[in-house]
Amino acid sequence: MRRRSPDDWSDAIALPLFARLSGEERERLVGLAAQFLRRVQIRSNDIELTDSMRTLIAAQAVLPVLNLGLSWYRGWKTIVVVPGEFRRAVTDVDAAGVVHEYVDRSVGESWDDGPVLLSWDDVRASGYCDGYNVVIHEAAHRIDLTDGSANGRPSLPRDIAPSEWYETCGAAFADLSRPARRRRSRIDAYAATDDAEFFAVTTEVFFERPTLLNREYPDLYRLYARFYRQDPLG
Ligand SMILES: [Zn+2]
Repeated sequence: MRRRSPDDWSDAIALPLFARLSGEERERLVGLAAQFLRRVQIRSNDIELTDSMRTLIAAQAVLPVLNLGLSWYRGWKTIVVVPGEFRRAVTDVDAAGVVHEYVDRSVGESWDDGPVLLSWDDVRASGYCDGYNVVIHEAAHRIDLTDGSANGRPSLPRDIAPSEWYETCGAAFADLSRPARRRRSRIDAYAATDDAEFFAVTTEVFFERPTLLNREYPDLYRLYARFYRQDPLG
């Protein structure tokens, strides 16, 4: 069944996150978000989803690809919304053969072919220019997958050489991984988990708090501005 797109985007577009966009960009964003809603099913087993909730998710999801296009989300078919942070039992076996069992707490999750899981509590907290945005975080994981693996490097346009990507991201990642730096930085320490989380977290900061990313890692800011073809500071 083809769902009709909601016509009222006023709540979504009123988010502080979109304040910097021009009228033309806002129109394009809404058009892209409406297309996104026709392609990606947003469902929940636990909460009744309204049009306003769907528009809030879709508008933020398409911001990173505003100037790239929806083809970057090929293969993204479903979003499952859960009420809040979710927990999952994880069993890991370490190099010494010791089994560790723990509970993994998460607010969002992306799998190669599976649905993107989003916590509604965290969607509601996103879009306020404080550097935190679970929708953009998970969208960045989808973009990361475009070259085939979640390694912090998406498919690159011709004018960005893989070596340039590795050098710029690698330098910032190495810097942020130093314990002393991590304590001082205003960027979420979760970015230092691995290359994929680094890309997702710094993409959140790029769109939500561009001044912060530009202050701490200006080279990375400029690289992302070229990659996303957006200059949130401009
Ligand atoms: Zn992540």
